[in-house]
Amino acid sequence: MTAIPEAVKKVLEVLESAGYEAWCVGGCVRDLLLGRRPEDWDVTTGALPEETLGLFGSRAFPTGLQHGTVTVRMEHCGVEVTTYRVDGPYRDHRRPEGVSFTRSLDEDLIRRDFTVNAIAMDLRGTLRDPCGGRGDLSRRLLRCVGDPNRRFEEDALRILRGLRFSAVLGFDIHEETEAAIHRGAGLLREIAAERIQTELFKLLSGQEAASVLRRYPDVLGVFWPEILPMVGFDQKNHHHCYDVWEHSLHAMAAVPADPVLRCAALLHDVGKPECFTVDPQGTGHFYGHGAISRELADGMLRRLNCSTVFRETVVRLVEWHDREIPRTDKAVRRALGKLGETGLRQLIALKRADNLAQAAAYHDRQAELDKGEAILERLLAEDACFSLKQLAVNGKDLTEMGLSGPAVGQALHMLLEAVIDGRLPNEREALVSFVSQFVTEL
Ligand code: ATP
Ligand code: MG
Repeated sequence: MTAIPEAVKKVLEVLESAGYEAWCVGGCVRDLLLGRRPEDWDVTTGALPEETLGLFGSRAFPTGLQHGTVTVRMEHCGVEVTTYRVDGPYRDHRRPEGVSFTRSLDEDLIRRDFTVNAIAMDLRGTLRDPCGGRGDLSRRLLRCVGDPNRRFEEDALRILRGLRFSAVLGFDIHEETEAAIHRGAGLLREIAAERIQTELFKLLSGQEAASVLRRYPDVLGVFWPEILPMVGFDQKNHHHCYDVWEHSLHAMAAVPADPVLRCAALLHDVGKPECFTVDPQGTGHFYGHGAISRELADGMLRRLNCSTVFRETVVRLVEWHDREIPRTDKAVRRALGKLGETGLRQLIALKRADNLAQAAAYHDRQAELDKGEAILERLLAEDACFSLKQLAVNGKDLTEMGLSGPAVGQALHMLLEAVIDGRLPNEREALVSFVSQFVTEL
C-alpha cells in the first residue's frame, strides 16, 4: 500500500509537536485505503490558520484564508493545511456564506460530501471514521454524509461530484443518494460553469463514465439539454444497433480516457436528431450531421467556459468524424497539414471508436483505419513535409527573391500545397526555381 509521503509526514509532525491535532483527510485517505495513488494531500488540523502560518514561517502561504486554508511548501510539493471547520448557512445552493473554525475533528468530518471522503488518518495510521466511510469503501458504495437531499440543496455541485466519484472509482451510488441526485439535478443551474466543467471532465475520464451517464442523462441535461433528444433516438439504419445516445456512450467508452477525445466522442452525433430524415424504404439518414453536431458542441462547450484551444480541438474532431478517413499519401499529408499529427491521431481514434459502436457487420472498416494509420506512420518516419515550418524555404528566402508583404505568405502556402500534393519535391532548389517563375505576378 502507498504510504503517506515524507513531506506530508513532516507537516503532520510539525503540527503535532506544537501540540495540535493533524490528520490527512478526504480524497488522499480514500485513495490510500483503496490502494490508488492519491492526486494531492490535504491535511486538516485543530490549529487556527494564523497558528499554522506562524509554525511554518516562510514555507507557509495564506492561499485560502477565508476557508481556513494555508499552503505549506515542502520540497517539491504543496500541502494544503485547513483548520477544522463547520460550514455556515448555505444560500443559492452554492458555497456556504461563511465558515467557522472548531477544535473538533468529527465536526469537520461530518460536513464533508460523501462517507468515503470523510475519513481521517494521522501520522501513525490511526483512522477516524465517524460516518462509516470504511464500510462503504469495502462495499464500493458512494453515500452522502447525512440526508442526501439536504446535502445537495446546500451545495448542488455535490451531485456532479457524486457521479464523478462513481465513474472514476467504479462505485455504486447508494439508493437514497441516487434518488436525491435525480430529484435535485435542477439545482445544478445555480452552479458556476467552471466548477461544473472541472467535475464533468473528471467524470468523462473515469473508467465507468459511460455506465454512469447511461443512468443519469437527466443530470447532464440540466446544463447540456442538447443531449436529451439523443436518448432513445431510433436511427432506423442497418449500420446501427444502438439508439443515438447508446451509440455515443459506446463510442465514448472506446476512446482513451482523455477529456478531448471523451468529449468529442460523446458529442460527435449530438446533431443527429435535428437532421433526421427517412427515405421511402424506411431507412433513416442524417445528412450534414457533422456540421450541425459541430455547431451544437461549440455552444455546449462555450456554455461551460471551456478554453478556446479545448473547444476548437473538440469541435474540429466532431466535424471531421463524418469524413472519409484519408487513405492515400496525398490525403494523409493534407489531413496532417490541417490537423497536425496529434489531431490526426485523435481523429483516427475517434473514428475507430465510432465504428466499433456500430453494428458488428460493419467493423471491417477498422481495416481502412489501419491503412490510413500505416500511411501516417510511414510519412512521419520519412519526415514528410506537411507544414510551413518543414518547408525547405522560408519567408526570408522569398524576401531575398524580391517578394514582399502578403505575397510572401501566399507564395509559401502555394509551395506547401504543391509539396503536399506531390507536385514538387521539398527541396530548396526546386522550390526557389518554381517561385522565380511567378515573382513578377506575385
Ligand atoms: P481528488 O481525488 O479529485 O482530489 P477529493 O475527494 O480529494 O478528490 P477535493 O475536491 O480535492 O476532492 O476535496 C477534498 C475533500 O474536501 C473531499 O474529499 C471532501 O472531503 C471535501 N469536499 C470537497 N468538496 C466538497 C463539497 N463540495 N462539499 C463537501 N465536502 C467537500
Ligand atoms: Mg483532493
